[in-house]
Amino acid sequence: MSVTPLTNGATVLAEPLVDTKRLCLHTITTKPLDLREAVAQYAASGVAGISVWREAMEGYTTTEVRTLIDDHGLHVVSLVRGGFFVDPTPEGRQAAIDENKRIIDQAAAIGAPLVVLVCGAHPEVPLPVARAQILEGIMAVLPHAVAADVKLAIEPLHPMYADMRSAVNTLEQANDLALATNHSHVGVAFDVYHCWWDPQLEHEIKRCGAHDKLLAYHVCDWKVPPSDLLLDRGLMGEGCIPLRQIRTWVEDAGFEGYIEVEIFSNNYWAQDQSSYIQAIRQAYLDHV
Ligand code: ZN
Repeated sequence: MSVTPLTNGATVLAEPLVDTKRLCLHTITTKPLDLREAVAQYAASGVAGISVWREAMEGYTTTEVRTLIDDHGLHVVSLVRGGFFVDPTPEGRQAAIDENKRIIDQAAAIGAPLVVLVCGAHPEVPLPVARAQILEGIMAVLPHAVAADVKLAIEPLHPMYADMRSAVNTLEQANDLALATNHSHVGVAFDVYHCWWDPQLEHEIKRCGAHDKLLAYHVCDWKVPPSDLLLDRGLMGEGCIPLRQIRTWVEDAGFEGYIEVEIFSNNYWAQDQSSYIQAIRQAYLDHV
C-alpha cells in the first residue's frame, strides 16, 4: 500500500490573510441579531460582505434590506437559500420550482448576484432519482435566473444530510451537476464543513475552478467531535479542518472572491454577539 501525498508537487501554503477586505458573514452566523443590528455591527468590525439568509429578511421589504446594506457600505455576496427540489409528487416539485423563482426575484431585489442552493433530498425518493429531480428543478428555474441575472450555486452537503437536505454530497457530484446544466449561470458553493474529508477534494476544487464554476467559498471548522451535527459548527481554528491548505487549493483554482463565515452554533448564539464578531475576525486572520 502506498501513501498518497497531501498535495501534488510542492506544498507551499497561501500567506495568512492580512486584512478583512474579503471577509463576509452569513446572517445566520449571528442569528440573534436583527438584520439592522447585524449590518451595523458587521460594518463597524470591518466585515466587507454579507450573505443574507431569507429568515433575516422577515419584517423588512427587499428595498429596505438593500438600502440598509448599501448605507453601511457592505457588499451583498449571496442570498441563502433556495433549492429543495426533491419531492415524491409532481405538485411538490412544481411548488419548489415556483418558490425558487420567488427566491431569485428576492435576490435580484436586494442586489445579490447569487442564490445558494441546498438541493434537497427526501427519504422516499431514491438518491439517483433525487439527483435527476434536482437537475430538472435547476433547469426549470434557470431561464428565470438568467433573466434576473442571478447565478445559482449548488452547495454539496455532507453525506450525513443525504436523507432530508441534499442528495448532492460531494464536490465531484456538484461539479458534475453544474457542468450538466451547460450554463454559465450555474456553479458551485463550496463549504469546508461539508467537504473537508473528501480524498478527491484538491482535484475537484481544481476542476471546479478550471470550468469557472467556483462561485462561493464558505468556512467554519469541524469540532472534535461536534456535540450536534447541525448546530455545533466550530469557529475557524477550533477543529480539525486544514483551512490554510484548503484556501491554498481554492486560490490556486483562481478564486478571488469573498470568504464567507457560516457558523450554526447554539453555543455561539448564546454569547454576546459583538464579542463573537471580534472573535470571528481574529479567527479569520489567524486560521483561514
Ligand atoms: Zn455553506
